[in-house]
Amino acid sequence: SESKIFHSIRPTVILPPNKLHISIPTYVFSLLHQNETSPSSTAFINATTGEKLTYTDLRSKFLSLASALLTSSPNADVGLSKGDVAFVLSPTCLEIPILYFALLSIGVVVCPSNSVSTRKEIDHQLELVKPTIVFATTSTAHLISPDKNITTVLIDSDWFQSCLQHPVKIDLKDAGNVKQSDTAVILFSSGTSGKAKAAELSHRSYIAMIAGFQVLRRCSEVMLLIAPMFHSLGFFFAIKGVALGDTTVVIGQRVGLSDMLRVAEKYKVTTMTTSPPMVVAMSRLDDINKINLSALKIVICGGAPLQQASTLHFTAKFPSILIEQGYGSTEGGSVTSMFTREECQNFKSVGRLFSNIEAKIIDVDTKEALPVGKCGELYLRSPTIMKGYLGDEKETDLNVDSNGWLITGDLCYFDEEGYLYIVDRLKELIKYKAYQVPPVELEQVLANHCEIIDCAVVPYPDEESGQLPMAFIVKQKESSISESEIMTFVAKQVAPYKKIRKVMFVDSIPKTPSGKILRRELANQGLSSN
Ligand code: AMP
Repeated sequence: SESKIFHSIRPTVILPPNKLHISIPTYVFSLLHQNETSPSSTAFINATTGEKLTYTDLRSKFLSLASALLTSSPNADVGLSKGDVAFVLSPTCLEIPILYFALLSIGVVVCPSNSVSTRKEIDHQLELVKPTIVFATTSTAHLISPDKNITTVLIDSDWFQSCLQHPVKIDLKDAGNVKQSDTAVILFSSGTSGKAKAAELSHRSYIAMIAGFQVLRRCSEVMLLIAPMFHSLGFFFAIKGVALGDTTVVIGQRVGLSDMLRVAEKYKVTTMTTSPPMVVAMSRLDDINKINLSALKIVICGGAPLQQASTLHFTAKFPSILIEQGYGSTEGGSVTSMFTREECQNFKSVGRLFSNIEAKIIDVDTKEALPVGKCGELYLRSPTIMKGYLGDEKETDLNVDSNGWLITGDLCYFDEEGYLYIVDRLKELIKYKAYQVPPVELEQVLANHCEIIDCAVVPYPDEESGQLPMAFIVKQKESSISESEIMTFVAKQVAPYKKIRKVMFVDSIPKTPSGKILRRELANQGLSSN
């Protein structure tokens, strides 16, 4: 019933009328204008190369690129049009935000993917989204099977670079005649179960998320964006940073924590996005006094549970830095709840709902909506939530009910003051260092091993990385396969963050009469084995 709906207590944000044709870039640049951001200020810095991109550069380059991509040229058969899907597979570089803005402005759907994936994983993603074009780099292009026959553009090619200087032939206002309900982005997520699925998010979803941040607006920030730009949070923060006139610092290669903090020092970073493992690692650093972090005021942490003890250790070590925990998901729009500076005392909570978001807490057994203080599954309704999973009505219906509520798979409660608490994860998702590891995907890999009769993968708690994927294996009687052989077998076929890191041999996998794996039972079995 309506009385059991939790509404955001933040100011309601008036979004542009639905009928108005607005793309993410149009909205972002109108806010930028409204916020009186100086065009000569820096929008992005690549700390690895030292390159900088001013707001003027960003705008002119993305409009040039968009103009070039709309035009088919004899030596590059591109000629994109509205509704096409562009698969983006690139390590972090400053061309990525330029590319995102260019594609979004002409109504081309951006589908970013993790460049540490294996070719098999990428193949599956390409099957799912059937892109018109791939943007890759010299280092990632080999992941695209040639037999897929998709036009591939190299971001680090001369041709691409020349596109950034192409004469501008479009006007941002009506470049692609983009409707807010049009799909802007496709992000891979396993959702509450199973294999990678393609979550479709609209331009309106991002407009609503940006608007939610705009009402909490503080002064401009220098933001160190650690979350990768293919992930829902990294993608959103890159876009939001532009809308709010921030300077977003990115790192173009994998570096250790001390190097990240040195970047923060060098660029006088004021805000940094982190994941729980980073917060834990920061509290443990020994030589921290050698790095001057006096500019750093806020560490935003999300993506996986952050233990209260970790927060306390962190604040003991860095008394002048506030941890703002946030909660979000690919399907719900990257940001659902967060703290603001004034609210940072409550370390157990993940903050309050952003503007315009409604929530229900649903009893797992009775499916009844529960009141304040009671724990149940979190349902969300908001302009930010996904349209659905591309080409998968069945999965969409399982995750978004007929009244438009997204079923999050997270066990939560609200307190009297509107703070949200995450108690547990109901869905079959392992989060290794806040990265999604869908157990079913690993089970399918394991099932292909000829000496394995049955298997199941569940999370195993780990202080450093949050959770480790642990496999329970029923092997054939005569098999002498070892734990490490199993780990190597899987490691060869999946992205590094999805590796099996713990193995236990068992006689059988506990299942319900209908054959569903009893994951909780196994997780407990794993725990008691040590
Ligand atoms: P993703 O789609 O990769 O962003 O993963 C979303 C899921 O990560 C959520 O549904 C939660 O299960 C989990 N998650 C995200 N943020 C938090 C948080 N602050 N605390 C606990 N779990 C979180």
